[in-house]
Amino acid sequence: MSDFQMTVLGSGSAVPTSEHNPTSQIVLYKGKQFMIDCGEGTQMRMIRFKQKYRNLDHIFVSHLHGDHYYGLIGIINSLHLMRREKPLKLFAPKSLEKVLRLQLDVSNTRLNYSLQFYALEDYNDKPLFSDHELVIECFPLKHSIPVWGFLFREKEGGRRIDKTFIEQFNPDIEDIKSVVQGGGFITPKGEVLAHEIITLPAKPPRSYAFCSDTAYQTMTAEYVKGVDLLYHESTFDQSGKHLAEKTLHSTAAQAARVAMEAGAKKLLIGHYSARYNELELLVEEAREVFAESYLSIEGETYMID
Ligand SMILES: [Zn+2]
Ligand SMILES: [Zn+2]
Repeated sequence: MSDFQMTVLGSGSAVPTSEHNPTSQIVLYKGKQFMIDCGEGTQMRMIRFKQKYRNLDHIFVSHLHGDHYYGLIGIINSLHLMRREKPLKLFAPKSLEKVLRLQLDVSNTRLNYSLQFYALEDYNDKPLFSDHELVIECFPLKHSIPVWGFLFREKEGGRRIDKTFIEQFNPDIEDIKSVVQGGGFITPKGEVLAHEIITLPAKPPRSYAFCSDTAYQTMTAEYVKGVDLLYHESTFDQSGKHLAEKTLHSTAAQAARVAMEAGAKKLLIGHYSARYNELELLVEEAREVFAESYLSIEGETYMID
């Protein structure tokens, strides 16, 4: 089990079907939860897939087509009824604040907690979130209204203490702190062990990218260069290419092309049009271009490593 993972709550597109809910995902990074998009019915999916809100402090909404945010007001209200007190940060296109404030106003709802709005328009050149180990950024995609993708990137870590050093010398806390800060160690016999000898190289940083509704564009691969896991919408198969062009969506082969151009390790496709009962056709088309292509399945958790 990885400490960096993504659970799919919804992988359908605009019209829900008995099989698919509209888009929503939960990214979990070392105990912190982040929601991406929140289509209608996301609350019920949270319950069904046993997801809790305790560690959810950030929601990112890619764009304002209803299948990506109609579930929000339900969750916002439920958190109020659950007596949430800590703030909830919502990163979304600017006009979403107007919509949600109106919904809360007409029902005279005064939330117990602070709902904090951040306009994605203001984050073109700064991260949405950054702490000592993780950074989250947004980047523009190409659709009929403004839309952003999201990139979760681990920061470069330091060298790691070698377990065999701990087992062999049982160093005290002060010694460990000094090694973490780049120091060496003097053994009880007076032998000096250099930092590089008692530590291992840093693990390569891991990353996940979410590409919401978008037509194919060459820039996307630049934004998500080298990601371990790439989610990219693929609303249509090859026979629906004209529809993809008309509605500014992607085909499975185009999603795979982005994965290939980006040098991604693995691709998950989703946002399936309601016209497909069987999805195998989509993933087969993707695999012709990029072998490591998979369907995103609701309720499944995907490791990022
Ligand atoms: Zn959509
Ligand atoms: Zn859309």
